[in-house]
Amino acid sequence: MTAALEVNGLEVAYRAGRGFVPVVRGVDLTLARGKVLALLGESGSGKSVTLRSMVGLTAREGARVAGSVRVLGQDVPGMTARQQLDLRGSQVGFVFQEPMTALDPVFRVGDQIAEVLVRHRGATWAEGLARARALFDLVQIPAAAQRLRAYPSELSGGLRQRAMIAIALACEPPLLLADEPTTALDATVQIQVLLLLRDLQKQLGTAVVFVTHDLGVAAEIADEVAVMYAGRIVERGSAEQVLLAPAHPYTRALLGCVVRGGYAEAPLVELAGSPPDLARLPPGCSFAPRCGSAFGPCGVTEPAEVARPSGHRARCHLPLPLDDRGDGH
Ligand code: SF4
Ligand code: MG
Repeated sequence: MTAALEVNGLEVAYRAGRGFVPVVRGVDLTLARGKVLALLGESGSGKSVTLRSMVGLTAREGARVAGSVRVLGQDVPGMTARQQLDLRGSQVGFVFQEPMTALDPVFRVGDQIAEVLVRHRGATWAEGLARARALFDLVQIPAAAQRLRAYPSELSGGLRQRAMIAIALACEPPLLLADEPTTALDATVQIQVLLLLRDLQKQLGTAVVFVTHDLGVAAEIADEVAVMYAGRIVERGSAEQVLLAPAHPYTRALLGCVVRGGYAEAPLVELAGSPPDLARLPPGCSFAPRCGSAFGPCGVTEPAEVARPSGHRARCHLPLPLDDRGDGH
């Protein structure tokens, strides 16, 4: 079976003044079907832009996009706008940070789900409504019959988020893209929604790419983790490799901020200094101005990605530590 996702050499640049500012720089990612990948990093690191590029949204916004993006074996940049729309509607579910961007305020939520099924799955209206009811049960919206008739503004934030997940899952897409889907919710509801997503992912075998700046969220739900900094993936590997034996000084700094209490429920603390201006990247390693381990070559040459035999990868001039699991040496 083809991979859920194969991204190679993705470059995205947005127009600013007379030129273009690179926001995503040479991103490679693959994800097998049924697996969960967390894209981790501070805000402005290019996580959301990477995610939106996977379904062709950035090119639609006028960004300059290069590289190859294959979703479920299909070449996304080569699709027409109509084909991309269909891809997003029926094969890839999208969950946003703010549910009101996905829910239409003037239609009842149940009708919005039925509409998706009528349009993309050829369901009758009655079938669509019946399926909407089943989906509300699946995402554990209480009093489903009554809530299906509600308008989005009549639901609480947590219920709106669940309704959006129900819409995203309506066609049982093999791939779900989620951009900080729980950040806007209070902590208790956040955990409920996350556990729900994880259960649904297991039940339906959906592959998920999950953008977050929260290490606890990544540890809770991810099989694999990729850490982004200044538009590049600076470290990737299994969740265990990256979160328990981080190789890149940036990842270590992120984890160091929260390591004392364990990372399970701790959000990332801001690191000292700030991410570089993408329009004026420093020479060499983009992290060098904030890196406590910087040495000779760091301010001169940009590090290439180095892979351990275990598959754990990092972009850093320092040798990768040998405490990695699964190397056999
Ligand atoms: Fe730090 Fe140098 Fe590694 Fe960059 S390449 S993360 S500056 S040690
Ligand atoms: Mg974002």
